[in-house]
Amino acid sequence: MEHSIPATAADPTVSLQTLPQAAWICDARGRIVAANEHWKRYVGPVAAMRTWWLSDRLVHPEDIAMLRSSWGHARDTGEPFRVEARLRRFDGSWRYHVLQVGMHDSDSPHRQWLATCTDIEDVPHAPRVRQPIDEQLEQLRSDIITTVGHELRTPLTSIYGMAVTLQHRDANLSLRARSQLLDIIVDQSMRMTATIDDVLAASSIEHGTLQLQHRRCDIGSIVRSVVATFDAASGTSTVRLQSPVPQVDASVDPERLRQALANLVENAVKYSPGGSEVVVRVWRRDGNAIIDVIDHGIGIPLDQQEHVFERFRRLDPSLTRGVSGTGLGLYISRELARRMGGDVTLRSQLGHGSTFTLQVPALS
Ligand code: ADP
Repeated sequence: MEHSIPATAADPTVSLQTLPQAAWICDARGRIVAANEHWKRYVGPVAAMRTWWLSDRLVHPEDIAMLRSSWGHARDTGEPFRVEARLRRFDGSWRYHVLQVGMHDSDSPHRQWLATCTDIEDVPHAPRVRQPIDEQLEQLRSDIITTVGHELRTPLTSIYGMAVTLQHRDANLSLRARSQLLDIIVDQSMRMTATIDDVLAASSIEHGTLQLQHRRCDIGSIVRSVVATFDAASGTSTVRLQSPVPQVDASVDPERLRQALANLVENAVKYSPGGSEVVVRVWRRDGNAIIDVIDHGIGIPLDQQEHVFERFRRLDPSLTRGVSGTGLGLYISRELARRMGGDVTLRSQLGHGSTFTLQVPALS
């Protein structure tokens, strides 16, 4: 199963194409500069080239820390390394690989590194390297259970309280009061459903079982419908769609795009405690349909801006002012956008607000 690679001794004649497994060459900074067909087929043409190999697009978030440390050591010493890690396939599923990374051409002033990736997912009893971050993972799991449990318990407590009040025979409730209690029960049930939907969506993203149905759609209409939902929900909406809304078509799954955008708008409202206005705007740039969600809320510190897209990642409660959530929304939005060939990015200034940008390739 293992194939030797030119690790420290350079062999410039080696052709990536002749290797029997996925392989690529990266520059000293970790940017992939050449790859063979096995790699391109595995990760898909978009992710195959001109990307950083140590990104969460390609490497499982739980394996990144371990790989960073091996890669850092290799770059400092020039020594090759061999590890097991999960790599993302084009369909979003993760498969365990043995990665062997070694210097490709040690004589060249422009150091390059060659990596071979052997898929061992289906190898029975393949030994899995125990991660040095096991303890952190255990902590993460326990945090997840606490967060999700809390997110379900809060609405459930309120549903229970309302139902008991309605059930109480002596309760002398007007029709109006009864209907208000029922409204709260409906709202809180929807909140629980949304949390469960998020957990299930994150799980199917993780397992690569999420199916998207792409078709040609007018992005403006999708954005209009999402903004309208927030209007209807709040009555006194703080969400405004900036006009004009240009006609931009893209090949997307409309339901999933709605879900990705709704998460961003919901966050913008949630993290703008003073109820300041949230502006959504649609435009077209360099062949992409761009949707900006702009708020003037609490903002996100610079050193946390990449981390908020990680699964279950929430900022410190002192920063979020006690607003609750599961830490799944941004992860789901970004993953969905990426499945549609796009991305979600963020610009933010602590105390001044944030702009989340969702983009997908536009059709001509
Ligand atoms: P959550 O359910 O906690 O809102 P998300 O994945 O949607 O989960 O967001 C992750 C974290 O990013 C949030 O807990 C919050 O700290 C921060 N965040 C997301 N959107 C915003 C925003 N518009 N303004 C400020 N902070 C935000």
